[in-house]
Amino acid sequence: SLRCGIVGLPNVGKSTLFNAITAKQAEAANYPFCTIEPNIGTVLVPDERLEKLASVVKTPVIIPATLEIVDIAGLVRGASKGEGLGNQFLSHIREVDAIVHVVRCFEDDDIIHVHGKIDPTDDIATIETELMLADLESMEKRMDKLRKNAKKDKELAPLVSLAEKIIKGLEEGIPARKLMETDEEKELGRQFFLISSKPVLFAANVSENDLPGGNEHTEAVARIAAEAGSKMLIISARTEAEIAELPEDERPEFLESLGLEMSGLDRVIQTAYDLLGLHTYFTAGVKEVHAWTIRKGAAAPEAAAAIHTDFEKGFIRAEVISYDDMLSYGSEQKAKEAGKMRSEGKEYIVKDGDVIVFRFNV
Ligand code: GDP
Repeated sequence: SLRCGIVGLPNVGKSTLFNAITAKQAEAANYPFCTIEPNIGTVLVPDERLEKLASVVKTPVIIPATLEIVDIAGLVRGASKGEGLGNQFLSHIREVDAIVHVVRCFEDDDIIHVHGKIDPTDDIATIETELMLADLESMEKRMDKLRKNAKKDKELAPLVSLAEKIIKGLEEGIPARKLMETDEEKELGRQFFLISSKPVLFAANVSENDLPGGNEHTEAVARIAAEAGSKMLIISARTEAEIAELPEDERPEFLESLGLEMSGLDRVIQTAYDLLGLHTYFTAGVKEVHAWTIRKGAAAPEAAAAIHTDFEKGFIRAEVISYDDMLSYGSEQKAKEAGKMRSEGKEYIVKDGDVIVFRFNV
């Protein structure tokens, strides 16, 4: 399953946000893949289409897509030099697919800010500098070996020049994501596992009073996110913790009273999903309705592999009905009779919301 890591300076609200996530997770405790480790939570990706499909195929069982959220504590100035939890922190963060960067945008004299003042621009720079220093160190370690190997193997030349370009850029304070520009560079650069190449979602943490519009600090975060080509959301971690404690039927009213349509957590999850370039197809039968996560642009066999790798190997074809057709015809049978079930081959690029039955050899 895909992983998002929560990072940020100490005392910005990371644990509060993470605990709100795990509180919600506890509700879904009968969910089969729900493994609970202290700093890893599985969250369900909210998708209102699931309930509608479940009523069409008349099943009580809904299995949503999931994301794993990892609370990565211990990032402080000097982390790449072993301060705080240092290297332990860095090994966790290399394994995630995307980063949720929590930024303190709330004032509260009782809660110490590690640098003594609320300054999102400075805080973001501190974290990003640590991430780039960590990448720089790991690239420098690789470089000697890479150069040595390249003397024997001419095919490594593009990798060496990419590595040199990345080192030079990191030294100038440019994150790796901006240094791997072409598709070829992106593909080659994957083997470096660079932290500063991962997509980032900024979560500007405000007090309840500053929902939903934010404040001067969130405006600074918005500017930085826009410049970096990243996304940002305004959330209140403390409010999320309160929402998580409310009974489910009382939540909509509470959200409305705050001027929100959706909980901040759900927005974080949906935005992260989007940031990762993911979308969803469904399988829907009397046993269950199941959301499957795939890369946007994935062809039918790759999509089948989300269910089982054997499905990809033995792929014959995919029987596809769009979500809209499924709903408007009211059953698979009726959609089929109306000619809305398409038989697609292995070149077919699966669309968001496709309802699919795979045919395969075992
Ligand atoms: P972490 O170190 O980033 O994990 O931060 P915590 O989640 O432990 O939060 C640090 C402190 O800030 C805790 O006492 C939280 O209750 C408090 N806190 C978190 N979010 C808010 C907020 O929106 N407003 C206020 N006033 N305090 C908050």
